[in-house]
Amino acid sequence: MPQNLLDFDLEGLTAWFAELGEKPFRARQVFHWVHQAGVADFAQMTDIAKSLREKLQQLAVVAPPAVSYAHTSTDGTRKWLFDVGVANGIETVFIPEADRGTLCVSSQVGCALECTFCSTGRQGFNRNLTVAEIIGQLWVAHHSLRGEVNRTTGEIADRPVTNVVMMGMGEPLANLENVVTALGIMLDDHAYGLSRRRVTVSTSGLVPAMDRLAERCPVALAVSLHAPNDALRDQIVPINKKYPLRELMAACRRYLVHAPRDFITFEYVMLAGVNDAPEHARQLIELAREVPCKFNLIPFNPFPDSGYEKPRAEAMRVFREILQDAGLVVTTRKTRGDDIDAACGQLAGKVADKSGRVMKRMHKETA
Ligand code: SAH
Ligand code: SF4
Repeated sequence: MPQNLLDFDLEGLTAWFAELGEKPFRARQVFHWVHQAGVADFAQMTDIAKSLREKLQQLAVVAPPAVSYAHTSTDGTRKWLFDVGVANGIETVFIPEADRGTLCVSSQVGCALECTFCSTGRQGFNRNLTVAEIIGQLWVAHHSLRGEVNRTTGEIADRPVTNVVMMGMGEPLANLENVVTALGIMLDDHAYGLSRRRVTVSTSGLVPAMDRLAERCPVALAVSLHAPNDALRDQIVPINKKYPLRELMAACRRYLVHAPRDFITFEYVMLAGVNDAPEHARQLIELAREVPCKFNLIPFNPFPDSGYEKPRAEAMRVFREILQDAGLVVTTRKTRGDDIDAACGQLAGKVADKSGRVMKRMHKETA
């Protein structure tokens, strides 16, 4: 098997080059070609000695996951479905805005944590993504969007992806090693040079791994809270039984010592009649006293047989106002790319269904 160079950060590539008897600056050059220029063909790496190019052609590849489907929504949101060889594949979504471009990246195929309102959780766990599969999502997005005209600003995007959120399929902290390596590549000035503050890991609350992330690669952190007390959180985010709110809040405080931002983002999926009552908002205010935070309220994104419903707009408004009146900063997630089921956070949700439909559509087009 040839070595996939997308599996390496610069340190790893340098070590591998050393085994081949190649100098560190050669590794750096190739790293630039791969990540900054988006070149996968060694023959095109013109400032690399021909002998090394030939060696690489024999021993290595630059292989992102294969795109099985790419689509642009009417609002400019772009979605890719990647074939990772198992189950239904993974999804990546790009959300362009006037002042930023956010890429929502997956970390696993499926998820073992079984949050009851999450269709990824319902599918069960398949496997961890490799470093190449994680960074490959950014590689494909960055290089296919570069040079395109931004629909919002009308400018040609040189660096289309300014923000990454690990909010696609899977629990990033359950795949910590590969996620940390991939994050390192995102941040590396020799690759994408993203700001630590603009790269966000979202976790349902794996407490020990939160501490390890703080040591290894502190980036912005979002915590999927979804409930203001243990009784309710035990039901909808089952990992809470292992790491209850008291431990989670303590882990958030420890994380903030290392974090590039001085607050944690608490995500809160609003489920009608489950966690969207004024009483829940009041309990959240108490919880929020323990950790500097901002809230992101996300209306539940329905999927077949979920057993849950979207909150009423009025319930969301009241909930938001209770938090705001207590001085908390609250954002309500806009749903973008609805026409392609690309609303971030429920990406994997419709993959099974979706890829079935996609396949049918492709058949029709090729027929
Ligand atoms: N496993 C991580 C990251 C992926 S999920 C986590 O749970 O944080 C990203 C976000 O989408 C989480 O806040 C998750 O709770 C939310 N989400 C999952 N299913 C959803 C749904 N059906 N509607 C709205 N948000 C959902
Ligand atoms: Fe896994 Fe996150 Fe879905 Fe929970 S919400 S099942 S942790 S992907």
